[in-house]
Amino acid sequence: MPVTVQLQNETYDVRRIFCIGRNYAAHAAELGNETPGEPVVFMKPATAVVPVGETIRLPQDRGSVHHEAELVLLIGGDDATSVDDIVGISLGLDLTLRDEQSRLKSNGLPWEIAKAFDCSAPLGKFSPPPSDFNHIEFDCLVNGQQRQHGDTRKLLFPVPRLLTFLASRFRLLRGDLVFTGTPAGVAQLVPGDHVELVAERIGRFGWRCE
Ligand code: ZN
Repeated sequence: MPVTVQLQNETYDVRRIFCIGRNYAAHAAELGNETPGEPVVFMKPATAVVPVGETIRLPQDRGSVHHEAELVLLIGGDDATSVDDIVGISLGLDLTLRDEQSRLKSNGLPWEIAKAFDCSAPLGKFSPPPSDFNHIEFDCLVNGQQRQHGDTRKLLFPVPRLLTFLASRFRLLRGDLVFTGTPAGVAQLVPGDHVELVAERIGRFGWRCE
């Protein structure tokens, strides 16, 4: 069954999920990574999406699963080339098997095992984009406690630059999503946790973990 998202009365088939790594200096530093000279890009399958209200099934016995709260962009048309082709924004979680990722990184291996597993992309509902992508703030709460605060003014690669970079490497299609990177404060989720993503004018989205 295709994975879809809604924006107002339109339905979009999600084809691909592009994710940006190390896009906030403070988060790169907390994991001991250098800030990159160009965007770090990886992908998740559309089947990783967990809609609002569904349960996040955390992988068992594979080490810690970290929340990464991120602003998410929805591409509105084929051959998208610029920020003007973004038709929607939301919030999402780039869930990460951190111990597995550390092992893969130290061996120079791809990250998919740690980043693209089932349930690894909880995703909120979409709203029309603002005129300015550089003043969006958002929060991640776990069991009501603040864990992360994002502010797109602090993005190393701002949204317009991310779009032109991705468009120079991939043919962007209607329904593609872009996870724009996480601020500092990533930490573990465990079964029973309730995780929420909140932003003014975007919404408040919650999931229970099991
Ligand atoms: Zn991330």
